[in-house]
Amino acid sequence: MTGLEHDQASSFHKVPNIKFTKLFINGSFVDSVSGKTFETIDPRTGDVITRISEGTQEDINVAVKAARCAFDSGPWPRMPGAERAKIMMKWAELIDQNVEELATLDAIDAGKLYHMCKAVDIPGATKTLRYYAGAADKIHGEVLKMSREFHAYTLKEPIGVVGHIIPWNFPTTMFFIKVSPSLAAGCTMVLKPAEQTPLSSLFYAHLAKLAGIPDGVLNVVPGFGHIAGAAITSHMDIDAVSFTGSTQVGREVMQSAARSNLKQVSLELGGKSPLIIFNDADIDKAAELALLGILYNKGEVCVASSRVFVQEGIYDEFEKKLVEKAKAWVVGDPFDPKVNQGPQVDKEQFEKILSYIEHGKREGATLLTGGKRIGNKGYFIEPTIFSNIKEDMLIAQDEIFGPVMALKKFKTIDEAIKSGNNSRYGLAAGIVTKNLDIANTVSRSIRAGTIWINCYFAFGDDVPFGGYKMSGFGKDHGLDALHKYLQVKSVVTPIYNSPW
Ligand code: NAD
Repeated sequence: MTGLEHDQASSFHKVPNIKFTKLFINGSFVDSVSGKTFETIDPRTGDVITRISEGTQEDINVAVKAARCAFDSGPWPRMPGAERAKIMMKWAELIDQNVEELATLDAIDAGKLYHMCKAVDIPGATKTLRYYAGAADKIHGEVLKMSREFHAYTLKEPIGVVGHIIPWNFPTTMFFIKVSPSLAAGCTMVLKPAEQTPLSSLFYAHLAKLAGIPDGVLNVVPGFGHIAGAAITSHMDIDAVSFTGSTQVGREVMQSAARSNLKQVSLELGGKSPLIIFNDADIDKAAELALLGILYNKGEVCVASSRVFVQEGIYDEFEKKLVEKAKAWVVGDPFDPKVNQGPQVDKEQFEKILSYIEHGKREGATLLTGGKRIGNKGYFIEPTIFSNIKEDMLIAQDEIFGPVMALKKFKTIDEAIKSGNNSRYGLAAGIVTKNLDIANTVSRSIRAGTIWINCYFAFGDDVPFGGYKMSGFGKDHGLDALHKYLQVKSVVTPIYNSPW
């Protein structure tokens, strides 16, 4: 179904006035050293929203200098954790007060559903910020007995200046899962948002300043990956880089870190997650879960359930229901509350998805529904389902990052496990069954960082999230993420005349 048949773009929600378009360095909005700017595009129409200052190597150098100075001699790392927490809580409050404007920025920049940004992404981000604020005064080491002659203790110290590089699919969520734990740890940072979605990051930087985050602690430098991103990963004065993005770029990040100063690297990368549905599943609910798993956020989700395996006893009925539901899914202006799916983020992503769909057809998969663009302006694509796939097909192996599902029938549990693991990725997996034995066996057999049983997309601030295999390493969320931004120092001292 489409919300775009009538007079498409003219009925779209209007583009708002954009307040922040410059680099945020050392507590101020500044032009880039080169004076260069780049366009950010409204994916509903392909029109330019505004121009943003473009950070290059020189701007990253200035930002790192500010972050280094804030780390080496500024108050943030030296403040008691409870004081950092107070400022982080204040920031969260300011974000709550600006939720409509922030949701508008992400909807317009990324084509995300406005009401989901308002109800899920932004409240989720402030929850994350508050979770880590709560952890800021609970960072401590251990006392170790060591021996009769010596005793030791450990200190957990902030790792230093962190470079955060984030993707465009969840501009707000990504910003806060990186920034919140590193702030709580006492680090200072330079964050580069994706070139497609710089708007909300700059607004968050403005609110950070109002909340009292000291100058130089949080620097936001929009720019392109191969220029500003590469300047971060190769910088000699950045101590750690936390990257979320594609596996291909993740590899470059690691090489660049190794070639420069061996900075610590954590990588949250791509996925091709399986959803495995067994004969005893409620077919209607399972079809709904599978559809949401691939279509949520237009399929631009690292954990999207892009491979769905269904047991033969329910396969035919499941397929029928799935297609019915896909046809009722509404694509259109992400500001319209009746719409389920907005446009893909940009022209490049739009064309990449359409070319995978053509590939799927050529490879001989059956196109059950979808497969085309919607309208003649903007980057809207029909929910698309392929069945009769072979597991070596490109559409069953590559991360498409769009509303395209590869569906396959299976007979036995062993076959389902083998298919589920038949991927170079290992980010997440879903299992639908009422049988505890099956759920336990499959969840232990699938090599992925998160397993959802009878649910999907269930994230928690306290639940570590990260990949196996080529989906990367290092965790976001939970105290594991906090520890990523801390390093352990062991302090050893002799004990004289120890009684024991
Ligand atoms: P991308 O790898 O192209 O870009 C991600 C970020 O890296 C952007 O900010 C980009 O500018 C920057 N970048 C690009 N080239 C760079 C370079 N040479 N050096 C340093 N930085 C560089 O990914 P994308 O297209 O923005 O996002 C989609 C990808 O992100 C998908 O593969 C998706 O699965 C992945 N992703 C993973 C997670 C996760 O938690 N595992 C979450 C969201 C997205």
